[in-house]
Order: sequence, then structure tokens, then C-alpha cells
Amino acid sequence: MARYTGPVCKLCRREIQKLFLKGDKCLTDKCAIERRPYPPGEHGRGRRKDSEYYLQLREKQKTKRIYGVLEKQFRNYYELAAKTKGITGENLLQILESRLDNVVYRMGFAFSRAVSRQDVRHGHITVNGRKVDIPSFRVRPGDVIAVAGNIARMKDAAESANKAAVPPWLDVDYKNMVAKVTGLATRQDIDIPVQEKMIVELYSK
Ligand code: SF4
Repeated sequence: MARYTGPVCKLCRREIQKLFLKGDKCLTDKCAIERRPYPPGEHGRGRRKDSEYYLQLREKQKTKRIYGVLEKQFRNYYELAAKTKGITGENLLQILESRLDNVVYRMGFAFSRAVSRQDVRHGHITVNGRKVDIPSFRVRPGDVIAVAGNIARMKDAAESANKAAVPPWLDVDYKNMVAKVTGLATRQDIDIPVQEKMIVELYSK
């Protein structure tokens, strides 16, 4: 299960946009985008290319980075989305949203997807009563996600979670640290700042 292990703020700076990869720090003035709102590197402040290809590439990279997915797996998700009935771009986002690490983050039990991924890997999460330690595991409507044990970090996150931001396809019981997946994510429930159509255009070339 490969994952990106480099500096994450650099990823936001590359997109010149907050991708909220570091939880609480992202909301403070310590955020690297607040301090240096231009791409990293020697030519960071130079003129940006804005070819169609470049813009499509940026949308893809941004989406991968938000969900913490590497190229090969992202491409596989795209292939699956293209084969699925409906709008490919929306299918792609729906698949990404159904990853267990994303769901735990959406429930509000982790400050970032990177942290929720670690919680899943460490065996702190059960699905329908069984431990699942695969962050890419895809949840389905009807599944019940729960926290196994008394994990202080997860409790802290749940206590300060913005309950209003929990998507409507999740029914979360914060007292018992459990949630039920009530449906599939629709595009309007997904608040990430990407233009998925451009990713489809890029892969369709
Ligand atoms: Fe991105 Fe958060 Fe780092 Fe800011 S603090 S650059 S939003 S990861």
C-alpha cells in the first residue's frame, strides 16, 4: 500500500490552493499557503503555464492529493468510473468518497484523511463488526462503521467535529462513535474544489 510520504504543504503550494491535508494547522496562520501563496521551487513565482493539458493535469493531481491516492490506484478508479453507469467524473468522486479512510474523516473521527488512514491501518476501525485495516476498503450503503476501543485522538476529533459538515449519506452517533452509511455520495454532497470533468478529459485523450 504505497503512499506519498513527502512534505504535504508543498502539495498545496503546487496547486496554489489549500487542500486541507494537515487538519487543524490548515486553519491557522501557520498554513504554508498563507505564508507563501506561490508554487515551490526556484521558478515558483514565474509565469504559470495555462495550457489545457496543464490545467487538466492540475485538477487530476489536486484530486489525488486530497484523497491521498497515488497514480496507479487513481487510474484504476477512473477505469472503474468509466465502466459504471452515469457521469464518469461524478462516479470517480463517488468511488473516492467511499474509501474507508475518507469515510472515517467525513464522520469527523479524524482531523485529516492522513490521520484517518493511519487509524484504519492501526486496526481502530470496524465495518459491520469486523476489523478492517485497509484504507482503500470501499464502504457500501447499509455498512456500519465503528471505532474499536477507546482512542483518545479519535474522541478529541469527534468532540470538535463540525457536525453540520457531515455529509447526508452518513448517520453518525458521536456518543457511541459509530456511523451508518445510508446511501451513496452525490456530487452536491462532495465539497472538494475540483473540476472532475477536466480529469475525464485528460484521461480520455
Ligand atoms: Fe495545505 Fe494545510 Fe499545509 Fe496549509 S497547512 S499548506 S492547507 S496542508
